[in-house]
Parts: sequence; structure tokens; C-alpha cells
Amino acid sequence: MKKLKDSIFQQLSKVADQLNLETYVIGGYVRDLYLERPSKDIDVVTIGSGIELAKAVADSLKPTPRVNYFKNFGTAMLKYKDLEIEFVGARKESYQRNSRKPIVEDGTLQDDQNRRDFTINALAISLNQQHFGELLDPFNGIDDLEKGIIRTPLDPDITFSDDPLRMMRAIRFATQLNFEIEPTTLQSIAANKERIKIVSAERIIDEVNKIMMASKPSVGFKLLEETGILAIIFPELQAMKGIDVVNGIGHKDNFYHTLEVLDRIVPNTDNLWLRWSALLHDIAKPPTKKFVEGLGWTFHAHNFVGVKMIPKIFRRMKLPLNEKMKYVQKMVQLHMRPIVLSEDIVTDSAVRRLLFEAGDDIDDLMTLCEADITSKNEAKVKRYMKNFKVVRQKLKEIEEKDAVRNFQPPVSGELIMETFGLEPCREVGLIKDAIKDAILDGDIHNNYEEAFQFMLTKAKELGLKPVT
Ligand code: ATP
Repeated sequence: MKKLKDSIFQQLSKVADQLNLETYVIGGYVRDLYLERPSKDIDVVTIGSGIELAKAVADSLKPTPRVNYFKNFGTAMLKYKDLEIEFVGARKESYQRNSRKPIVEDGTLQDDQNRRDFTINALAISLNQQHFGELLDPFNGIDDLEKGIIRTPLDPDITFSDDPLRMMRAIRFATQLNFEIEPTTLQSIAANKERIKIVSAERIIDEVNKIMMASKPSVGFKLLEETGILAIIFPELQAMKGIDVVNGIGHKDNFYHTLEVLDRIVPNTDNLWLRWSALLHDIAKPPTKKFVEGLGWTFHAHNFVGVKMIPKIFRRMKLPLNEKMKYVQKMVQLHMRPIVLSEDIVTDSAVRRLLFEAGDDIDDLMTLCEADITSKNEAKVKRYMKNFKVVRQKLKEIEEKDAVRNFQPPVSGELIMETFGLEPCREVGLIKDAIKDAILDGDIHNNYEEAFQFMLTKAKELGLKPVT
């Protein structure tokens, strides 16, 4: 039996007894207590009014925390120290076919445990003094916790059909906790997959992002695929699965390759958007796939086509359409560049151009490329990694020397116009671009004097004369 250590539980106990309310801590907090995963979210359920209990608990604390009431849901929430405590009256739920929103009535603890999604999330610990610390586990949730099993407390077909978000939650918990979904429960997800359509995109992406942030996201994506949910919520990723063979020549399965890249990038970044870049780097391989005689399978311009596909995917999945999406697009567009660099003799100008295009995201791009090397051939992987080291070193040297990472033109458009007495026109752009290219190609250094001289030469070629 695990102990409720935080002093807040004694306080909850005292107030619950004063109000004569049967009260429990329930759900995720209890599960995490047994899993020894520290948790700051406490769900308190009481046989009576959660709102009344929250108010009394807040009044008993110093300093008195503010309580947020959600009268429509009969719940209340307060923050105390680093804890977030939610209070709710025990309830019984019944569902209608076309909505995730249940009809709610007051209920017993057992009713409340019945409405929970998984056995491991239905655990409750009594808070009243007389039974303080006693575990109530009607579905053998502790057993499932020990064995690492996700299972619904009641008939899974009913649980999932009632609230299909639970299918996503099952897969998300299996991924986060490295648990198995019990076979009947898993079959039921596959059988009820179409029900996912009544869940909002916002709720779905919340779960997908939790899968993305787990230590082995491939577990979740494989389960989504196996159950048929992936094809509904993310058809572009589903399309990557499978191998075509022509004249006995196949290509690699891009779905499993992508998942490997994603798993490989996880230890090197907590940046959700870099992880999304890993998931999407080859997303346009299916639509660009072609078998070319003599060449084999090609995926021509899949990086550019990928960049174009991303806004549609982000919009549909309710991912942000801001600079985070632009970052993912940039990563997808550039994802093959360091590989090419590492295969060729690395010229300074190629490195400068990459630095210019990637800017401050250059390190992230290298991290993505390193994760993208998934060959089974160890010698090959070693060779690539060694070459990437050379590229990284070269990037560092060139940046120290030429500072093109956050390139600002050393000669501005205004100065060009002033020098030659021009209004904004095509020639100004041509000269500016020529200066930029000369710096990136290493013809001149990145400084004012050389750029100014170069501007004069270039202008002369265009038939322009300085006005003074
Ligand atoms: P996490 O904090 O990682 O999301 P959690 O289990 O604490 O995990 P919450 O969404 O905070 O997740 O839910 C708290 C508890 O409420 C769960 O443990 C579970 O008992 C119950 N619950 C949450 N969502 C559902 C649902 N869709 N169907 C049934 N019970 C649910």
C-alpha cells in the first residue's frame, strides 16, 4: 500500500470529515503514486457537492487560494503551492450515440469508478480519517499496473463507443507507460475506429502530441496504424506504409523508416516541432514515388512537395499555422542537404549556403539528419556519422569566419539607391542578390568595404554610374 505523503491530504481529510462528506483521491494521481511518477494534479471525488468541499478546503488553507468554479460541470479547481486540485461530486454517466458529452447524474463511488476509462485510472484512495489511505480497486487495477496492462473496467465496446477519445487515450498511455493494451480492449479499438470521427481535432492532436513527447513514439503510431485509426486521422502518414516492387526492385517501407527516425531523434531533443519535422520529413514520398527504368525508385523533389503538404495537414489537425509550422517546413525542405554535403567533398560555399538558409536552426537540422540515418549496415552508419562530424566542424569554422548564419547584407538597398540615384527598381534587387551570392560563394568577405567595391563593379556591368 502506498502512502499519501503530501500534507494537503491531511487537510482534505479534516475538512471532508467536518462536512461529513465521503471523499477520495482518484484517477491519475493514484495511478502515478503507484508508478512512482511524481504528479501535481490531484483529482478529488466526493459523494456530494465537489463545489462545497472545494470552498471549505480553500477557506481552511493559508494563504487562501482562489477557487475556480465550473458550475455547469459541478466541478471546482484550486491551485495550492505547486499542486492543482480538482473537486467533483461522484457521478453516474450515460451516453447518447452522436456525442461524447454524457448525461450526468449524482452517483456513488462505484458509479464514478465505472465511468473511468481504464482499470489503472479507476483506483481511489479514501481520505476520511476512519479509512484514510485505504485503496479501493474494484477492477484489479493494481494487478494491471504491475503487469503493465491497459484494460477498460467495463465492456470495451461500450466504453469506447460512449467516448471514443478513450481509444486515443489507451494508445497514448500504452506509449507513455510502455504498457500493453489487453487483446480484447485492442480489438475493440479496431472495431470502434470509425467512432473517432465524433472526437474534435483539438482533442485528438492533444493525444498525438503526448505520443510524440513519449520516449518511444513509434509504439503509439504502430498501434494507431494497426487499429485503423491512423488511416482516419492521418491518411498521409498511413500512405507511407507498404513496399512496391517493380522488376524485382522494392523500396524501403517509409512508414517504418519514419518511425525509426522519430524514435532516434527523441533522445536528442525535447522540441516537439523538431520531432514533428522527423515525422514529416518524408511525408511526400508516396505522392512523388516513381519507378524509373535504369534508376529504380525515385522520390523526386519530395522535400519541396512535403513543404507544400504541411499547411493542409496542420490546418486539418489543428496544429499551429504560425512560425512553428514554418520551422517544420524549413526542416522538411532542407532535410537532405547535410547528407549531400557529407557525401561530397565539403566546399566552403556549400556550407555557407546551408548556414544562410538554415540560420539559427542549423543545429536542429543536423540533429534531424543524424536521426535520418537508419541503415542496417553499421559500417555505413558509422561512415555517415563521421562525415556529419566533419560537416558540423566545418559549419563551426565557416560561421566563425564569415558569420552568415544570421546574414544581414553589409550594403543595404537604401545605400545602393542613394549611390546610383535610383528609385526602388529591379536593378537594386539584382545588385543586392549579386552581393549576397558573392559572399556565399566566397568571392568576397562578409564586410562593408569589399561589398561596397563589389557593388560598384556590378553596377558598372549594368551600366549604372554613381551620382556624385
Ligand atoms: P495525464 O495527466 O497524463 O493526462 P490523467 O489520467 O491524470 O493522465 P486526466 O485527463 O487528467 O488524465 O484525467 C484524470 C482522470 O479522469 C483519469 O485518470 C481517468 O480516471 C479520468 N478520465 C479522464 N478522461 C477520461 C475519459 N475520456 N473517459 C473516462 N475517464 C476519463
